[in-house]
Amino acid sequence: MHCKICSREAGEKGYCKLHMTAYERILEKYVAWKKALEISWKEYLSEIVKNPLTGEWAKEVAEHLIRDGEKRDVADS
Ligand SMILES: [Zn+2]
Repeated sequence: MHCKICSREAGEKGYCKLHMTAYERILEKYVAWKKALEISWKEYLSEIVKNPLTGEWAKEVAEHLIRDGEKRDVADS
């Protein structure tokens, strides 16, 4: 099985190690953002893509999640 984003070997979530790490960071940051801002998952993802400070890996993951319309893994609180 290949990574959903690149052609590297994927782990259980369907991402390679590098994209999995970026994905986990995205989820962690979203929890923090949610505490401070009223922001939806999709809005948050587009902020990541627009942000010039976002690393390439995270940007690729965010773009993938937007395209995929994937539901968030974090609970709505
Ligand atoms: Zn990958």
